[in-house]
Amino acid sequence: MKTIHLSALKLDVEVPDNVHYHDDGLVRGLAMHSAELANRYSEKRPDNFLRIFVEMTNLYSLYHALAKSYKLPVNGGRCLTIFPGDSIIESITRGDQVHSHIFVLDNLTPHQTIFAKGHEETHFLGNINRFEELQKVLKINQKNLIELPQEAVCDIGGLYAVIKNFPEENLDLGFTYEGHLKSASEWLRQNSHLNFKKTSLQ
Ligand SMILES: [Zn+2]
Repeated sequence: MKTIHLSALKLDVEVPDNVHYHDDGLVRGLAMHSAELANRYSEKRPDNFLRIFVEMTNLYSLYHALAKSYKLPVNGGRCLTIFPGDSIIESITRGDQVHSHIFVLDNLTPHQTIFAKGHEETHFLGNINRFEELQKVLKINQKNLIELPQEAVCDIGGLYAVIKNFPEENLDLGFTYEGHLKSASEWLRQNSHLNFKKTSLQ
């Protein structure tokens, strides 16, 4: 086992030695960086990467353009996990080398950057079946994060990261709280003991 650090969530997590976490930092384009990774890992998993690349280039760029004009929540990051088997957990258990890359767009506001990074770090926790690490720091007793859709759990991770990194500020993510983000903020308010007094979470 080894310890990895998730910087937006400010969390240390123990992972098996065959799980490799890569914080790729800020990138100019999600599609471009995905293509670079696709190239790097192409011999290991060409089918998977072709699919991801097509998805990123066509859909995400369109969504980002629309989201900006309508102030919709923007998913400004990506957690890309490369594994040789049929599922990540199966690959980890079998001892295969599993690589997870986290990266975030470089043109977001500081709050949006931390939100996106916390969101993607939570995807990483989900990928290795460890949402309980987030559950622990949220100090939630009765309710379980598993009851929520995965994207809502990741938005909870994003909001937690923003509160953790900007504790004294009036938080404005710059987009309206809709869909998973709305359920995530409501769920956090109802179920966690975090102090939301200084935030503008709706
Ligand atoms: Zn997501």
